[in-house]
Amino acid sequence: MTKKEILTNPAFLPPIKEYVHYLEKAYEKGSLTDHGILLDELEQRLKKYLKVEDLQCVTSATTALQIAIKALGIDGGEIITTPFSYVATTSAILAEKCTPVYVDIEPDYFNIDADKIEQAITPQTKAIMPVHIFGRACNIEKIETIAKLHGLKVIYDAAHAFGAEYNGQSILNYGDVSVVSLQETKLFHTVEGGIITAKDPFVSKQIDLIKKCGHEGENFVRDGINARLSELHAAMGLANLDHIEENIAKRKMLSETYDELLENSVKLPKKQQNLDYKYPYYVIVLNSKEQREKVQKALCDEQIYAWHCYSPTLNTLKYLKTTQPCPIAEDLVSRMLMMPLYVELEKEDIVRVCDVVLKNV
Ligand SMILES: *Cc1c(COP(=O)(O)O)cnc(C)c1O
Repeated sequence: MTKKEILTNPAFLPPIKEYVHYLEKAYEKGSLTDHGILLDELEQRLKKYLKVEDLQCVTSATTALQIAIKALGIDGGEIITTPFSYVATTSAILAEKCTPVYVDIEPDYFNIDADKIEQAITPQTKAIMPVHIFGRACNIEKIETIAKLHGLKVIYDAAHAFGAEYNGQSILNYGDVSVVSLQETKLFHTVEGGIITAKDPFVSKQIDLIKKCGHEGENFVRDGINARLSELHAAMGLANLDHIEENIAKRKMLSETYDELLENSVKLPKKQQNLDYKYPYYVIVLNSKEQREKVQKALCDEQIYAWHCYSPTLNTLKYLKTTQPCPIAEDLVSRMLMMPLYVELEKEDIVRVCDVVLKNV
């Protein structure tokens, strides 16, 4: 008998009937985009679920990061960011004609090292764009203090942080703008899509205008792009939202199984006391690049696919004009694997995965 193939993080797909049930509502209405009834329902439900006052859905988190830069009035200059993220964090900065300045990460949660941010600030610095990587909170307090002191904007790439609460409130309430990805490999998705939240109502209004080409009523009031989320996407979001609690519970159980089996044998990100974590990913850090390659290959031989994620680090992208060394991130990435975590897995699948890891460390 061939063994079950285990992937890293395939999309969660709700029963198609549930998707169609929502779609039918849009069909009855006769329109499939331009802020339809499903998008409205999704935004209302997400606001409640995430406990945020301001929230808009757009076509992707990458676009949302670009919209955030525009909406905050950042017109060129430097944006301090992390070398350890999906490439979209940097590509959004470049697309808005800004220069990314990389500050290395800290070794506990793998987020930007807030203690090193101030030394990277120059007269050209406009903003800080940290990432709550794998859904763990950045050093929010320190980043806020630095931003205030130097008059900088803070845009959180919270792509991984759907549902996370920090100090008893939504993690999206921190910073000037936060952005979540709703792409299908994320914890909660609309196939493609993103969430953007802003603290200041003026900024929120700019976001609303920018996402529809600056078109208001009969007038074209500012520059913008088209980032409208369609009813097809909203329908998927609504269908998925009906399953979010059970999905998180399952991922928690699977993650805790990993913890029990691996915590004495590999390095794991530290736990955060003041964070209500929602188990978006499970990553492990091996002793060396060689050991990471060995484990990855041994898993692959068993039809288990772990992802050597976010390699190379963003500060080493070939198309950057200037860059900074980030030795901690570069070392960490060479040793990291993203492990399989999705709701179709069972406890015994995790045991099977961990057996292979433990035999090779
Ligand atoms: C997925 C991801 C993005 C981009 O999200 P899209 O919705 O696919 O544009 C940005 N940042 C991080 C950290 C991500 O993982």
